[in-house]
Amino acid sequence: MAAPLNLRSPITALRGVTELLAKRLAILNLTTVEELLWHVPFRYDDFQKSVTVQELTEGVTATVQGVVSMITNRRSWRTHKMVTEAIIDDGTGTVRAMWFNQPFIGKTIKQGDTIALAGEVKLDGIGLVFSGAQYERVAAPDAPRTHTGRLVPVYSTTAGLTVRHIRSLIAQVLPLCTQQHDWLTPALRTQADVVPLGQALHLLHAPTSYEDITSARRRIALEEIMPMLVVSAGARATRKKSTAPDFHFFEHEMQRFVGQLPFTLTDDQKKVIWKIIQDTAESHPMRRLIQGDVGSGKTAVAAAAAWHAALNHNQTLMMVPTEVLAEQHARTLTRLFDGLPVRMALLTGSTKHKQRIKQEIAEGKYELVVGTHALIEEDLSVPGLGLVIVDEQHRFGVRQRQALLDRGSRTGSAHFLSLTATPIPRTYALMLYGDLDISTMHSKPAGRKPIKTHVVADSATRQKMYAFLRREIAAGRQVFVLCPAIDAADTSGMKSVTQEWERLRAEVFTDIPMGLLHGKLKAKEKQEVMRAFAARETMLLVTTTVIEVGVDIPNASCMVIEEAHRFGLAQLHQLRGRVGRGEAQSYCFVSSENASQAARARLDFFAGCTDGFVLAQYDLDTRGPGDLFGDMQSGDSAFTVASVADTPLLERGSVIAQALVGESGEVTKVLDTLWYGRTRNVHAAHLE
Ligand code: ADP
Ligand code: MG
Repeated sequence: MAAPLNLRSPITALRGVTELLAKRLAILNLTTVEELLWHVPFRYDDFQKSVTVQELTEGVTATVQGVVSMITNRRSWRTHKMVTEAIIDDGTGTVRAMWFNQPFIGKTIKQGDTIALAGEVKLDGIGLVFSGAQYERVAAPDAPRTHTGRLVPVYSTTAGLTVRHIRSLIAQVLPLCTQQHDWLTPALRTQADVVPLGQALHLLHAPTSYEDITSARRRIALEEIMPMLVVSAGARATRKKSTAPDFHFFEHEMQRFVGQLPFTLTDDQKKVIWKIIQDTAESHPMRRLIQGDVGSGKTAVAAAAAWHAALNHNQTLMMVPTEVLAEQHARTLTRLFDGLPVRMALLTGSTKHKQRIKQEIAEGKYELVVGTHALIEEDLSVPGLGLVIVDEQHRFGVRQRQALLDRGSRTGSAHFLSLTATPIPRTYALMLYGDLDISTMHSKPAGRKPIKTHVVADSATRQKMYAFLRREIAAGRQVFVLCPAIDAADTSGMKSVTQEWERLRAEVFTDIPMGLLHGKLKAKEKQEVMRAFAARETMLLVTTTVIEVGVDIPNASCMVIEEAHRFGLAQLHQLRGRVGRGEAQSYCFVSSENASQAARARLDFFAGCTDGFVLAQYDLDTRGPGDLFGDMQSGDSAFTVASVADTPLLERGSVIAQALVGESGEVTKVLDTLWYGRTRNVHAAHLE
């Protein structure tokens, strides 16, 4: 006799699993009983309502049960499809059932069998009919049902594997749910308000009500977010224990830096710089995230931090997401450090003499290195690394952040400062950056006028806009015209942007020098386009979203965003932030001639709001977190069940994570108790 099944049993131990079927199951990562139990339904069909044939009406979704009085396979003379047709009689009347291209149904179900049918009843030329309905043979009147007569789970499948296969296999292993170990003690379960794990799995596959589904999913969601929260809690605890160079505050020298800046720092800039000085005075590493709306002046804060590190004979690495931005930062910082002994290097993918520069960095020749991903290459070593700055944090993953910190070669960690303009509501920050302290910069440099935003929804308004832009350019100011990548296959946006450039040049701004910027240009060409625009040799720049992050041209006063409805509001806000950086009144035009009613409403909201936090919340409420986080490291998509919008669960989970990790900061053991079966795959994806 075969050994009794347990959670670790291979899936091939189940009845009916041939080698071929096992191969197909493996495509879905289903190789053991446990993994099968963790295969989460993506929806349920509600076939709970059982009625008699007499009670059926058109459009009703229900289950009926009766005896098959006739069943045949035939070929449709019109479509040549195989049609299986049956008549079911339950004593109150008869109803027809039809299936297409599933001739095996006509072979497995026989006249005289008692079957259940579930689905939506339709009306055709002959009468009421179940078309493509779920069906199953009923052995005894109250035998448990798998495909009908209940909330029927629907699972993802793969070629050659039907959802019926999966349901039948899960029905076989469902009793084993009781063996599922639960790492949460009853007390912690009460605290998190969740059911035991085994019970959750059972309810997931065999719910008897919608409440069952909710409590099952809630528990599974906790499983999904837990590892991330544990890692965050661990990082927090570890930081308290690990060491970093403690920086002395050279007050006089810092004042010298502040005094020679071309502007007076805002209150928020001063506050944040002071926070950094306090953080780095400790011998524990700083981990600080600065959220400051676009144009709030984060670069000057970064410069002050780098100067502070330099005064302490520590080196700083500053990583930014694009080459355009790296070069701009290098220029800006050179200006901010004017007259101060800060030697700076630029390191990007297209830097010449990379090896030589890396060698010099290793020799400690530079106080500050600004660069792109090139900074995290293995062969870069920064012996005196004391500070790591990441600009536009949301573009980078946790792993890249760590790789950057690892460039230092002495024991202990470098301090870490991260800058972002993406406003992240507190709870999300808690989950995504649980180990970071967060400061917010609200105030904008003095003299800034709020950007005026207009929605351009018809061609008359468009013509007025062009006339207005002309006047602005005549007054010496500059204009961005931004086009999204419309052609899905062409993510560089080259096609749409080039077409628009040609159209504007030929028809609208025939006498105005224009630049063209998109992702397909070579680094050198991009550099030249940006240089010409910064030098006012071109007055209008047609561009894709390469311009999105951080680009700083204070003389530009107008931003035209074509097809604006294609963007999330947080991103539109980023794009709008490319203007309004100087003293002049600035304008943003969001064009939406092709937008739907709903999209139009979003753009109107955008036009009336200049607060990035409010816009982010609006996106979150109306479109979910996808827009806000985009390709952010958390990869919300890696969650099957959990939603980062489930704030209470997140908060309770976070408390539990901290309780589990304790002061030791040893997360590995905790993670080992959490990780099992399929969830291991899910969770591993989060830590990329
Ligand atoms: P962001 O926070 O979006 O990165 P930047 O650091 O690029 O903003 O600064 C935006 C613009 O504001 C730059 O042109 C910068 O020189 C200018 N700026 C920064 N701080 C101040 C200030 N305190 N007063 C006036 N202008 C400032
Ligand atoms: Mg910036």
